[in-house]
Amino acid sequence: MIWTVDDDPEVLRAVERDLRRHYGDRYKVISADSGVSALEATRQLKLRNEPVALFLVDQRMPRMSGVEFLEKAIELYPDAKRALLTAYADTDAAIRAINSVHIDHYLMKPWDPPEERLYGVVDDMLDDWQAAYHPALDGVRVIGHQWSPHSSEVRDFLGRNFVPHQWLNVETDEAAKQLLATTGADASSLPLVVFPDGSFLGNPPTSEVARKLGLRTKAEFPFYDLVVVGAGPAGLAAAVYGAADGLHTLLVEREAPGGQAGRSSRIENYLGFPMGLSGNDLARRAVAQARRFGVEILTPQEVSKVRVEGPSRVLALSDGAEIGCRALLIATGIAFRKLDVPGLDRLTGAGVYYYAPMSEAFSYREGNIYIVGGANSAGQAAMYFSKFARQVTMLVRGKSLSDTMSQYLENQIGATKNIEVKLNSSVIAVEGADRCEKITIQNNTTRSNETLPASALLIYAGAVPRTDWLAGMVERDAQGYLISGQHLMLEGKRPTGWAVDRDPFYLETSVKGAFADYTHAKLYEKGYAQHTFFSIQGIGSAGISIPL
Ligand SMILES: Cc1cc2nc3c(=O)[nH]c(=O)nc-3n(C[C@H](O)[C@H](O)[C@H](O)COP(=O)(O)OP(=O)(O)OC[C@H]3O[C@@H](n4cnc5c(N)ncnc54)[C@H](O)[C@@H]3O)c2cc1C
Repeated sequence: MIWTVDDDPEVLRAVERDLRRHYGDRYKVISADSGVSALEATRQLKLRNEPVALFLVDQRMPRMSGVEFLEKAIELYPDAKRALLTAYADTDAAIRAINSVHIDHYLMKPWDPPEERLYGVVDDMLDDWQAAYHPALDGVRVIGHQWSPHSSEVRDFLGRNFVPHQWLNVETDEAAKQLLATTGADASSLPLVVFPDGSFLGNPPTSEVARKLGLRTKAEFPFYDLVVVGAGPAGLAAAVYGAADGLHTLLVEREAPGGQAGRSSRIENYLGFPMGLSGNDLARRAVAQARRFGVEILTPQEVSKVRVEGPSRVLALSDGAEIGCRALLIATGIAFRKLDVPGLDRLTGAGVYYYAPMSEAFSYREGNIYIVGGANSAGQAAMYFSKFARQVTMLVRGKSLSDTMSQYLENQIGATKNIEVKLNSSVIAVEGADRCEKITIQNNTTRSNETLPASALLIYAGAVPRTDWLAGMVERDAQGYLISGQHLMLEGKRPTGWAVDRDPFYLETSVKGAFADYTHAKLYEKGYAQHTFFSIQGIGSAGISIPL
């Protein structure tokens, strides 16, 4: 972008015309007739993250002189080249310009012929600017405090919804401070989310960010053949199979597509990916595949209730809307099990994370990280974070890793120098003023305690089925798993209220036409991790091929 500012309309037109003629194919030439309006427009450009290469400014303008304008404009664009254009040999202005705004050139009016008196100088400034220019990311920017749980939530939300964004730490990043000042917002507005069109939201809930980004949260139709609740691997696969078989399919997800798998740094046991892939990659591919088959995806949107109305199942969404469907697939996965440890709730999001997003790894370079848990997810996290942190310590309650972790992962951990495994160990306290600083570990055998400095505590302590929203409507067992298929039959009798003349189908719940995914159906024997991926392709077909 090349800025030209002059209060004389004729001069402004002429300079704009000459610049466009020569540079219009590579730069956008913009103009203003006063320093005041140019400054306001420059602020807007900054908010939209648009680059400015050159300010070519008249010196003698009423209200705000060229130098006064440049003094303010270069606070916003310190790398832009600056040239003053004047009809007078104004020595004072020249000296002030050189001293205060480090002017690159002082050009005299008229500049005819431009080939001789304008383009050479401007070429030189633009070449210089181009050589040092690094294009800015063309996406959302988030300004916030590194240890603020809300900042971390917004970043996680953007990352998991595949929204390219730049994180600016307000404590350490000059660009963050400057951008904050440009918006006129103060520290109470953090995290501040600045969008590519220059608009911004202070301290927003993720639903508002989603709305602004145009993520779809409202269904296009009132009724679908198949509604899948939850866009983890199971839900995504079911939706792909449903739509591929021609069913009009809606997928509803409360956070971000990918589910738990979206948090995985490296999935190595997914069929067809012999080198493994990150959960985020898997989710991105699955979403693209689902969309290609015409699946409509609502995210973030939560299903809060289900009821039966004649032949339809009717879902109530958290924003009050309702959607009907012929078949429902419940693939809402699990909720992470919370630890009841003093100090932990207060510091969650500020160095303490349940199933930490991968983006957090960059914050702990050279740090000292503790990981609670001994299953595969904890092992993967240890491997991933060990590439960034100085030391990773796994705190495992049991007496060996083999009981809970796949052999390949245990071997990888054993071969990684900066991972230590502390068996028979539990965390019993977390301390820190505004972020995790220390933790206390108890040895479960000797009952001895030790308090150690900790940059972060990452918790992978298992999960419970996320089926509370179905209470009273769909039959569940004492742990909250959905009861389905033959498990609903008691002494050969169909469940109470079962109104069709057939037994429940495989994975069908106590509500006719509402199916559970494998995780919820309580058909596994050894834990969900390896089994869900294996099963989901089958569930997709089971959910859709049944005539209703
Ligand atoms: C860090 C980590 C690493 C892992 N690594 C592996 C691995 O390497 N190999 C492997 O086989 N397994 C791995 N797993 C386990 C694997 O991710 C899970 O088995 C799998 O994600 C389960 O899929 P799902 O679709 O059943 O449920 P989930 O992935 O839990 O997805 C359920 C989705 O439903 C949404 N939801 C819940 N309630 C509602 C509602 N009311 N309305 C709308 N949406 C709702 C949730 O937000 C979520 O996105 C890992 C898990 C984690 C956490």
